[in-house]
Amino acid sequence: MAKATTLTTDRRIRREITITGIVQGVGFRPFIHRLAQKHGIAGTVHNFTGGVVIEAEGQPEAVAAFIGDLPREKPPIARIDDITVVELPALGDAEFVITPSREAAGGTILLSPDVAMCDDCLRELFDPDDRRYRYPFINCTNCGPRFTIIQSVPYDRPNTTMRPFSMCRHCQAEYDDIGDRRYHAQPNACPVCGPEVELIFGDERCSADEAIEQAIELLAAGKIVAIKGLGGFHLACDATSQDAVQELRRRKGREEKPLAIMSTSLEEMESYCHLTEEAQELLTGAIRPIVLLKKRTSVIAPSVAPDSKYYGVMTPYTPLHHLLLADDRLPALVMTSGNLSEEPLATQNDEARGRLAHIADGFLLHDREIEIGCDDSVVRPTKLGPIVMRRARGYVPFPVTLKRDLGRVLAVGGHLKNTFCLTDGRNAFLSQHIGDLEDANTLDYFQWCVDHLQDVLRVEPELIAHDLHPDYLSSHYAQRLAEERGLDAVAVQHHHAHIAACMAEHAAVGPVLGIACDGTGYGADGTVWGCEILLSDYDDYTRAAHLEYVPLPGGEQAIKEPWRVAAVYLHRQGLLDADIDFCHNLDRPRWRLLEQMIEKNINCPSASSAGRLFSAVSALVGLRSVDAYEGQSAMMLEAAATDAEGVYSYEITESDGMLVMSPGLMFVEIVADLEAGKDTGEISVRFHNTFVAMVGDAAVRVAKKTGIKQIAMSGGTFQNELVLHGLPQRLTEVGLEVLIHQETPPNDGGLALGQAVVASARNY
Ligand code: ZN
Ligand code: ZN
Ligand code: FE
Repeated sequence: MAKATTLTTDRRIRREITITGIVQGVGFRPFIHRLAQKHGIAGTVHNFTGGVVIEAEGQPEAVAAFIGDLPREKPPIARIDDITVVELPALGDAEFVITPSREAAGGTILLSPDVAMCDDCLRELFDPDDRRYRYPFINCTNCGPRFTIIQSVPYDRPNTTMRPFSMCRHCQAEYDDIGDRRYHAQPNACPVCGPEVELIFGDERCSADEAIEQAIELLAAGKIVAIKGLGGFHLACDATSQDAVQELRRRKGREEKPLAIMSTSLEEMESYCHLTEEAQELLTGAIRPIVLLKKRTSVIAPSVAPDSKYYGVMTPYTPLHHLLLADDRLPALVMTSGNLSEEPLATQNDEARGRLAHIADGFLLHDREIEIGCDDSVVRPTKLGPIVMRRARGYVPFPVTLKRDLGRVLAVGGHLKNTFCLTDGRNAFLSQHIGDLEDANTLDYFQWCVDHLQDVLRVEPELIAHDLHPDYLSSHYAQRLAEERGLDAVAVQHHHAHIAACMAEHAAVGPVLGIACDGTGYGADGTVWGCEILLSDYDDYTRAAHLEYVPLPGGEQAIKEPWRVAAVYLHRQGLLDADIDFCHNLDRPRWRLLEQMIEKNINCPSASSAGRLFSAVSALVGLRSVDAYEGQSAMMLEAAATDAEGVYSYEITESDGMLVMSPGLMFVEIVADLEAGKDTGEISVRFHNTFVAMVGDAAVRVAKKTGIKQIAMSGGTFQNELVLHGLPQRLTEVGLEVLIHQETPPNDGGLALGQAVVASARNY
């Protein structure tokens, strides 16, 4: 034990150090114990609801050094929000001990997300003398699977999918030794006692190193391999082989979305994308999300991300990834989610072998079960800091910590990019990305995830929140659940929820001016909203400005076919006979049908949606007339934009206090530019400038009228870098303060947080 026993007590001091933040389930108490030993500190440490309390006793210099080291040497995934120090009388403790937790009944349980493999484990993985040399399930107190293997609480091995593997003598000794870096590492394992990999390729089966070697052979030969990871399956192929990537796309069906790339070395990545310092930090940290980075022309196959100017890149985060990518023949692998776009992520061996049979040539499996699926997270580094676009692996189930107590609310989220949110006081547990709630499969998966999170956090909601849209599957689920449990269900307007999420993330006092721009959301008047300025508080809002309505002939079909909306805009300006490709190529008989639908108002919902405007311009300039996936045409428009100056004309009119933003004149000028043979990139950038100017002007007018100086921006359109940078710049120039999403996605993945905040504000 520490040398403290022999010290005299005369100079000794004792301090109570309370640390709040993410300090439980992340190896924090063993860390404190080791740090105390290092500095010759005696005393105690215990968990309490909301943090840890340390009583540290020793020489004044030693106590000071101990406190100073806390934030510097904390475990990689711990997050210290606050440290308070209180003087206590010295007690003459002889040693440092971990004492039992003092959790108030009903205290929030914090569970750790899955953590990327740490450098210590990486060293052991490639050390021929280590007993875990090339063992694909190496992990320690600081790294490895967590959330995805938890079946129930407390987080102990028998409550995880590691239960079937009983530790060998060696592993058990590590697990029990507080000085060992595997002390209480629940997934601790080795080749003798732990999980194994297996490769299945046609009739062949092999395991251990041979399986990994075979998988590398297949990948290097241009084959597609389904690889079981932490929270689900990836479909992998050689990212430098155009044939392999095209074959993967062909087998996945209509799939055209950008595919993520994994590479081990940052130098390698540098050869195909622009690596910023911020990006390097994200790529080498404990979370290791997919990071969106500007492409370079390189050896990467063109069909990896044909529509985008970004690649989504990540570094290996499991030992298995490291082993696969250690081979020189595989400098970069496509690693895309192992599912069809309309299905949830495959997590079970049999399920994957069934559902992915027509896509994968081989399956690299293992026998550690995935309890709950969790996709890769996606982060975009921006001039305004990193923004989480998809919050899943590495983040979930850590809460978003709020300034206000929300009580216990379950918010079920929206329809696309669904996540849900369970709150417990000031902790908002935003779920992992679930996907689009279009079908029964995904809805089942969603319900399973809701139940799982309630179970492992031991949180029973007292209030249910859902979207205002009466037909969303999530709304139906919420109402059913509320009825079953005798709870209130609160319907929250989509864009109000967006703004409230952004407000909550920044603990804004309100009211704020909310600028909500996205594809679609059900409006309070039954129309489709999507480009709105809302005077927002947590409990309520007033609509102050919106984009001019256009009819969407065919409803959903008009969303998938941007050419329809482009035709509507041109028709309004009398431009359908302009001498441009769009008009020459227009399917006139189909348009006449749509025109009749508009005249008779048959299946023509009105929309004030930014997404539809972006798509319409994309179709007009000839980039994309029918979307293969949500947001494709808008993404292509952003990708096309070059550097150019200039803004098109627009109008902002006012009636009954409501501002209406009209881009009609812009279409006249775009058509003129097209007739003059102007470049698509130039038109695209001018369109973006115009959008920013128009929405910015409207916001400034509302700000002047109301005296509100704080702006919150939310909605999927803020994934667009030109808007994300342009709009805040314009608004801060005139002295307004701008809040943007950082910790939670600006798209519908952040919606549930806003729903929870609004429902709670209305109810309490
Ligand atoms: Zn480790
Ligand atoms: Zn073992
Ligand atoms: Fe939205």
